[in-house]
Parts: sequence; C-alpha cells; structure tokens
Amino acid sequence: MFRSLLRSNPRLTVLRNHITPPLVNQFIQIRTMSVPATMKAVVVEETGGPEVLKFKTSYPVPTPRAGELLVRNNISGVNYIDTYFRTGLYPAPKPEVLGREGAGIVAAVGPQTSGFQVGDRVAWLSTGGYAEYTAVPIAQTAKIPDGISDEDIMASFLSGLTVLAFAKEAYPVQKGDWVLLHAAAGGAGFLMTQILKSIGANVIGTAGGAEKCALVKSLGADVVIDYRSEEDKDWVKKVKEATGGRGVDVVYDSVGKDTWEGSLEAVKRKGTIVWFGNASGPVPPLPLAKLTPKCVKVARPSLFGYIQTREEFEYYTNELFNLLKSGQLKTKIHKIYPLEDIAQVHKDLEGRKTMGKPLLKP
Ligand code: NDP
Repeated sequence: MFRSLLRSNPRLTVLRNHITPPLVNQFIQIRTMSVPATMKAVVVEETGGPEVLKFKTSYPVPTPRAGELLVRNNISGVNYIDTYFRTGLYPAPKPEVLGREGAGIVAAVGPQTSGFQVGDRVAWLSTGGYAEYTAVPIAQTAKIPDGISDEDIMASFLSGLTVLAFAKEAYPVQKGDWVLLHAAAGGAGFLMTQILKSIGANVIGTAGGAEKCALVKSLGADVVIDYRSEEDKDWVKKVKEATGGRGVDVVYDSVGKDTWEGSLEAVKRKGTIVWFGNASGPVPPLPLAKLTPKCVKVARPSLFGYIQTREEFEYYTNELFNLLKSGQLKTKIHKIYPLEDIAQVHKDLEGRKTMGKPLLKP
C-alpha cells in the first residue's frame, strides 16, 4: 500500500526516488506489525524426558507461506499429547517446536491468504505453540469472539473441541446414559464432565486424590471414584454397584495401559469404549475376541479426524464459543507457566499434579 501510494501521488516522486527498498519495507512493516527476526521458543531436538525441552532465546521467527498466518502468541495450551511427541510415542520430525494450540494476534498474513488481517485476535490448532510466534494454516484458525478471553479459549480449545466431537460422534451420548469417564479432573476431563451432565447423562468420574475428586463432584458428577485410593482401587466393582450390576453404556478412557482391562469389565453388554489417550501408556494390541462375549464396540478417535474440513472445524468452534459466551461451560486453568518453565509443566502433567489445563505464557 505504501508503495502504491508513492506510485500514484506525483508529489511524492522525490520521496519515491530517494527511498531505498529496505526503507520501504520498513515502512510497510510498521504499517502492519513489526516482527523480529528471532524469538524465544522451546525446541525438542531429540526424543526423551522433560530435559530434552530446550529453551532458546534467539530461534528464527517462521515466515508464513500461502494459506498461513504468523501469530504472535499471547498464551499457548499445554496438552498431554505434547508429551507423546516429546517422548517419540507419536513420531514427528525433529527438531520440533512442540505445542498444538495458541491464542494471540495475527502479526503477518502469508501470500494468497484471505479472510484474516493483521491485528485479528485468533486461536489456532497446528504445531509450534511453545514459541512467541507461530506460522499456522488458516484452515484450523478461528477469530476469537469478543467476550471470550485468550485464557478461557486456551483452557478449552483443543480439549473442548475434543470432548464436543467425542460426545457427539465417537459415541453419541444420550440423556440417561451411564458414562464412565477416567481422569475426570484433567484438562479434557473437567470439560467433558460438564458436557456430559449438560446432555443429561449419569456420570461416573474417576480421579486420583481427594482434591481432584472434590472438583469432579462440584461439576455435578453422579458418582466419583478415587481410583488411586486403597478404598476405591477396585473401581470396576464401584461402577457395577452404581449401575445395578449392568455396567455403563460407554467408557471414555484416556488413561490407556492402566485402565483398559477394567474399562472392558465395566462396560455393559452391547456397550462402547472410546479409547482416546495414553496417559499411563498405550493400550496393548487387543485380541478382537475379547470384545465378543459382551458384543462391545470400540472407538479410537482423534480430534483432528473430526475437524478435517473447514465446515467441521467451524461447527465445533462455534459450538464451543457459544458455550463459553453463555457461561454454560466453565474453564479451569491449572496454572500459567512462563515459557522457560516448560520442563516443569511436563513434569507436573506426567506426575499427575495438574487439575484443569496448564497454560504457557510465551
Ligand atoms: P490431563 O490433564 O487429563 O492429564 C492426564 C491425566 O491422566 C492426569 O492428570 C491423571 O489424572 C491421569 N493419569 C492416569 N494415569 C496416569 C499416569 N500413569 N501418568 C500420568 N497421568 C495419568 O491431560 P489432557 O487433558 O491434556 O489429555 C487427557 C487425555 O486425553 C490424554 O490421554 C490425551 O492424550 C487425550 N487426548 C486425546 C485426544 C485425541 O484426539 N485422541 C485429544 C485431546 C486429548 P488422575 O491423577 O486423576 O489419574
């Protein structure tokens, strides 16, 4: 625009002839948003424990390509899935800047990219959130409506879209269903408990420790089981008691290795198990014959499989925004950590010390 102004206005000819291209670029940047060449970021160069999360102070700021935006992140979400990419359970090319979501301001718009402009407040799902700036595809970026804070959106974006999609499509939860939800006080669990109750389901939530159990109870869960306590360690028995010996219609199990066998016992005849995570390790290869006695159905969904098209993404983001704006969905932030403390966030997540969602301030 600055260049075309110079071209179109004869009075500015002298100025045009004396302004060097770098200076023009500088003006153009000032008209948009000045972006530094380097930034703070957390990079994983090789897989391993939390110690492989390397905090860098002069990592190159990415350049947005066609169909991408450069977002200056105000706040980023930390999800359990980040630990899978760190350890290599989920393979991805390294070096990698982890972090699957962020919220902030559009700092630059890539070529041939429409629908967004510099200064828009957005939330995105992609990769590279453990950084001050991230280049993200517009396909999974949404403008944040007024009235929703960046913090609220990061406490519920990836996790909230997950639970909305899984409660509607992985198994369509119906009013009156009995649902067993593991890790009900976690980032996803805190939101899922509320969504299930709003549908009218009977919720049996498991959580580790009295404080987490009290949180789940406060959300309206009908039965809460402290599956780490001596008293409740036979949690399958408790589930059977709560359901009159029948078992639950559906189990949402994101714990995996430690709970999969119990989940199979706790589900009713013709019931469904939605295995969607590996907090304690992956579910081992399952002989299909194990499903036969009770005619059990199994789903192993991924959020990204349900929001591949723009239409699907907008369907669930609009639903989430409406729930947040109307106050029907509450969020819980465990703590906002500075970017340089990222190793501690992973330790807290894997050490089962978090309730609700941990966030990162780049
Ligand atoms: P959480 O905040 O729920 O943290 C994980 C929780 O799992 C812990 O707080 C802990 O709760 C429980 N847990 C049980 N056993 C262990 C163990 N051995 N080690 C560590 N934690 C354990 O994380 P998120 O909300 O980020 O994610 C929840 C789950 O959902 C994860 O498994 C994640 O991978 C999955 N997920 C899957 C998605 C998909 O697309 N398939 C999308 C989003 C999330 P407690 O102490 O109460 O037992």
